[in-house]
Amino acid sequence: MRSFTTLHLQYAHRFYNFKGEAQYLHGHTGILTIEVSDTINAGVNMVYPCNEIKKIAWEVLQNFDHALILREDDPLLPAILKVYETQGIRNGVPTNTMTGPAIKNELITAHPECRLVITKETMTVEGMIKIIHFLLKDKLNITKLTFISGDNSASEKYIPSGTICRCPCCGITVGPDGVCPKCGCKVNNCN
Ligand SMILES: [Zn+2]
Ligand SMILES: [Zn+2]
Repeated sequence: MRSFTTLHLQYAHRFYNFKGEAQYLHGHTGILTIEVSDTINAGVNMVYPCNEIKKIAWEVLQNFDHALILREDDPLLPAILKVYETQGIRNGVPTNTMTGPAIKNELITAHPECRLVITKETMTVEGMIKIIHFLLKDKLNITKLTFISGDNSASEKYIPSGTICRCPCCGITVGPDGVCPKCGCKVNNCN
């Protein structure tokens, strides 16, 4: 069966060199739906707690919220960084607290300290789905991602690999020691 949850990301971006309005800097509220699939965990009678899907996703995706997302070759990038530098906010300010981990992989470099995400490809809804799957595939049994941003929407289906060992008392992923990191329940029936 599947569990799914939705979360919102507010961001600014543009499609550099795109022949249309989207080449100008603008903003969106993006709506992401994450669907995970697995067996029903008999202990709690659920696939996966939706608030926990949200928590795991938010840990990394908060880097995209209230952020500026630019492609690595966009000339706005050095210009923006220069302004942040001059203003003294390039390396963060005490009020910028909603920050995830700094991320660097083949698709993105996230600078949570100044709420900037630099992407390899243009950040369309399709591009966003590729990035989100890459960031979350090892943490959740993702079966489908849907991303809606203004009039643009995209979705992709995935085949999850195997099952996740979940706590029979609270439903979250159990650590390698067989103990639930949240409630301390001991799990005997996962291998
Ligand atoms: Zn847009
Ligand atoms: Zn638990």
